[in-house]
Amino acid sequence: MMKPFQLAARENKKEDTIIQVTGPGSSVKIGEGYCTIIAGPCAVENRDDYIELAQFLAHSGAHLLRGGLFKPRTSPYSFRGLGKEGLDILKEARSATGLPVITEVMDVRDLDYLVGEVDILQVGSRNMQNYALLDQLGQINTPILLKRGLAATIEEWLLAAEYILARGNGQVILCERGIRTFEPYTRNTVDIGAVALVKNLSHLPVLVDPSHATGKWDMVIPVAKAAIAAGADGVMVEVHQNPDYALSDGKQSLTPDNFRKMLKQVTDIAKLEGKIMNTEEKM
Ligand code: PEP
Ligand code: MN
Repeated sequence: MMKPFQLAARENKKEDTIIQVTGPGSSVKIGEGYCTIIAGPCAVENRDDYIELAQFLAHSGAHLLRGGLFKPRTSPYSFRGLGKEGLDILKEARSATGLPVITEVMDVRDLDYLVGEVDILQVGSRNMQNYALLDQLGQINTPILLKRGLAATIEEWLLAAEYILARGNGQVILCERGIRTFEPYTRNTVDIGAVALVKNLSHLPVLVDPSHATGKWDMVIPVAKAAIAAGADGVMVEVHQNPDYALSDGKQSLTPDNFRKMLKQVTDIAKLEGKIMNTEEKM
């Protein structure tokens, strides 16, 4: 029987989709056979800290830098990101490190100045079903990282990807970030099974975000390892120099030291799985 998500389905495209993302000094392949590490703070907070952390991450072996400019916060009184003003900081980090960058877009109106400046646009969990946004993202050439909605079924998630694919943008990366369940000990319940399932159902790359999936920094390394062992094509993690003082998501942020530990352990698992770490192919 034909799947409702036709373009995302493996039946309709036998080869795995591999998405190439090129920064000023390095090129990253995201998809089957590769392991991609995206790292950075939840939000870009100020220039000096972001550039310092970006340099550290680049030297340590991260492949892509993350940094939120627009933060979807539960409370309107929480830090909501630097917005458009933070884009120059992200661009400076991109040229200083040579690494490509990813940031979240929440509003179609921000696409005007984001497109062409960042290498991947992220659709956050809360916007997975913002169909007006998905329609617009389908009409650009930038790769899209589509997070799973916090209460989305796998089919709803793949149909959200289908919105982007159907408009002509084939560069969709799926990202499992945990779903909301009855369990309060963790921020979300990480669905590792979804990784194996979606890798079977679809040819699209699948990443895991162990930071938002757990909400606890000391669960990030074990869940990152589980993700790669289950077949994920990489992980996206939050890192902060001083998690206690982070303006958002400090509790789930790795320190720079812990990021190094994670990278080493994830690299070992990726090797066992026969995956190429993107750093092995640096330009
Ligand atoms: C994020 O990655 O910055 C984020 C807000 O994550 P999520 O949309 O998964 O909550
Ligand atoms: Mn965050």
